Parts: sequence; C-alpha cells; structure tokens
Amino acid sequence: MSEKYWDAKFETMAENQMKAFQLEKLKETLKWAYEKIPHYKKAFDEKGVKPEDCQKLEDLAKFPFTVKTALRDNYPFGLCAVPLSEVVRIHASSGTTGKPITGPYTKEDLEQWTECMARGLWAQEVRPDSILQNAYGMGLFTGGLGFLQGAMRIGCAVVPSGAGMTERQILLIQDFGTTALCCTPSYCMTIIERAEKMGVDIKNSTVRTGHFGAEPWSIEMRDEIESRGGIHAYEHYGLTELMGPGVSFTCENYSIHINEDHVYPEIVDPATLEPVELGKEGELVFTALQRRAMPMIRYRTRDICTLRREKCDCGRTLITMDKILGRSDDMMIISGVNVFPSQVESVLMEFKEVEPVYQIRLAKKGYLDVMYVETEARPEIYAAGQAKVDELAKRISSRIQQVIGINVPVSITPQDSIERSIGKAKRIIDERPK
Ligand code: ADP
Ligand code: ZN
Repeated sequence: MSEKYWDAKFETMAENQMKAFQLEKLKETLKWAYEKIPHYKKAFDEKGVKPEDCQKLEDLAKFPFTVKTALRDNYPFGLCAVPLSEVVRIHASSGTTGKPITGPYTKEDLEQWTECMARGLWAQEVRPDSILQNAYGMGLFTGGLGFLQGAMRIGCAVVPSGAGMTERQILLIQDFGTTALCCTPSYCMTIIERAEKMGVDIKNSTVRTGHFGAEPWSIEMRDEIESRGGIHAYEHYGLTELMGPGVSFTCENYSIHINEDHVYPEIVDPATLEPVELGKEGELVFTALQRRAMPMIRYRTRDICTLRREKCDCGRTLITMDKILGRSDDMMIISGVNVFPSQVESVLMEFKEVEPVYQIRLAKKGYLDVMYVETEARPEIYAAGQAKVDELAKRISSRIQQVIGINVPVSITPQDSIERSIGKAKRIIDERPK
C-alpha cells in the first residue's frame, strides 16, 4: 500500500505484464471450469473447444458465452465448483427479473473480493480516519457486505446504516460526522432532497465523498449530486455473477478502472456476438480470472458500454470502461429510435426546475410502443401556478425531441407522487400488454 495506490503492483502494471498474468489465470480458470462443472464441460464440448485451445488472450473468443438463464437453470449450486464445505459465503441477487441467482465464495474468493473493494475505496480517498456510512442494503445483495469488507480492510470506522430510514441516515451523518457515504446514486439524491426539506444542508456537512453504484446514472445526475450535495461522486460497478461490486471503480478523474487482474473484459456486438474493438460500443462480457467457487466464463452482462485503453493521469494502467449507458433489457425502441432511461435522465437533469426523480411509462398504441415521461417540479414551480407547470412540461418535451429525436409527452406529476428510491431506482413502468 502507498499513499496513492492500495495495490501499486497491479494497479500500475505494464500492459504486457498484465496480459501475461491474465493469460496464465485464464488458462487455469478454463481448465478449472471444464473439469469441475458439468455445464461448462457440455458447453465447451458442444462448441468443440478444450481448455488447451486457449494459447493467447484472443483465443477466449472461441469459447462459449454464459448467460443469465444458465445461472437460473443451475440454481442454486449447479455452477459451484467446490463442495459446500469449502464455501464460506453465499450471496444471491434480488431476483427481480425471475428466480434469484446465487454467488458462492470460498475463503480465498472472499479475500480477493475484499481486496478489490479496498482498492476502489482507497482510490476514492477513504482512509483509516474516515467515517464511512454504508447505506447499501445489507443482506443477500452483494453491495452492502462488499463495501463493508473493503472499508474494514482499510480500517476506517464503518456505520452499517443499511438502506432506508432516510431521516435517521441524515441524523447519523450529523451526529457521527460521516465523511464517506455509500449507497445507490438515486438513494443519495433521496437523502439530499429529504435533508433539504428538514432544513439540513448536506453540502455543508462532513460528507465529502460518495461511493455510488448498483444502477445506471447519467453524468448529469453525478453533477447534480456534486453541486447540490457538495459530495465528490465516485462510482463502483459490479454484478453478483462476477463477485458483486469491485469489478471496477472510478479514480479522481472519473475514469472507471477495471480490476483486470481479476476480471477479463470484452465487448461484443450484442447482435452478432463478435468481439468489438476498443473504443466501440457494445455489450460487456466478463470472465472471472481467479474465482474458485463460481468461475464465470464469458458472462454476458447485458450492460451496454465501451472499453478504452488510454493513459489516465491517476497513473493507473488498469483498462477503463465508459459509464454504463444502460442494460440491453432496459433499451426501449420508440418510433424506431433506441432509447435508454439514462438518456432521458440526462435531458431532465438539464432542467433546474425539476426534482431529480422520474419514471418512464411504456404503453402500446396499436403495434407501436409509446413512452410517457413523468417527473416532479421544484416547489417554487407548483407555487407559481398550473400555467408555469404546463409550460415546463412543454419545454422538457421539446428538449427531448431535440436531443433524442423522439416526440414524448412529459407530465409534471404532483409533489412527492413519484416514489423515492432507497436502492436501485425503478425507472420503467411497463404497461404494455404481455
Ligand atoms: P440484478 O440487478 O440483475 O438483480 P445485481 O444486483 O448483481 O443484479 O446488479 C448488477 C447490475 O447492476 C449490473 O449488471 C448493472 O446493470 C447494474 N450496475 C451496477 N453498478 C452499476 C454502475 N455503476 N453503473 C451502471 N449500472 C450498474
Ligand atoms: Zn485513473
């Protein structure tokens, strides 16, 4: 550990050395998965590939992808490569989109996950003298415990406040002198908004850094949190299938560095599944390089993103990814235009007159999908009367037309009518007949 890097060896490793390290780990992992897990043996055999066919990193493209249904079909432990006696923790996703999926860890897996989290939090100014309030949901979900472990490894004071009870979160910030706040970005916005209503100014509180993740959020939302909350808004990205948060983290330059000694990233064209070159957009695919309980080969995340290998002023050589544009399953096709909720969010956030809450309603008109955007205005707009409210809705609608190129009705709903998020915000309400 140095003042700047938690793990300088890997964070600043030369590209060729990193690639050699990755290849060595990749070969081990392919062999491990093939020998230990019937699902992978079958999938490799069907594609006619053997672990030994991977002699360079590019060879990974010959291997089959793993998709979410494979995790569901093998629920709960069909993809676990070790006996349960060697498993020390089992996480599961919420299963909001179906049966939950499991994430088992050996002691060593847990140790590596902890190191990945400590690396990210350290890059984001967390130090032993920090007071870190962890407002991610504690429990089955990987977020809460992932952040707890990383923060404990650094040795700061952790306040495991969990998600929800917003007024108490604000009280704890004030009474304990919280310096670092961990939660989803939408929940941070909820906290800032509630504090304003309580007459508490988060901007002048002790909180200096935010460690946000678990959901897509726009750069405009990040700016809003920074200016309205006085918080440096850092980011974490990850998923249950790969370890949870800890897959990647932002440095002081907002570059999202991937812990590529642990997860090997690829971008593929979601239609053809062919690899896409650096700098081009596509679906993120990850292979876990060091996990033992649940090795993961070419997992299709459904997250739309771009990878870049560019020099970052922070000195880290770890490959970077752009902010996630959205999940392919959240992509809407409106009047023939592909739209992600984050694009609508970007436009909404341009308007100082709206609260940073919104939802998108999807309905059917004949054969076509139609979309309605709902948001709330700041109190002063409602106070100024209905004409002002209507005028604002019109202006937002024409701005969406200008930026995204689709004609979308916007309505300003009554104050506090849109549910405030305490975890992953639900942005889309799908009312299309099934
Ligand atoms: P699920 O939401 O599918 O039940 P997880 O809780 O494991 O499962 O969430 C992982 C997903 O959350 C990622 O695939 C991604 O879509 C989203 N996510 C996590 N962190 C971020 C982030 N920083 N930015 C955008 N999306 C994120
Ligand atoms: Zn950097």
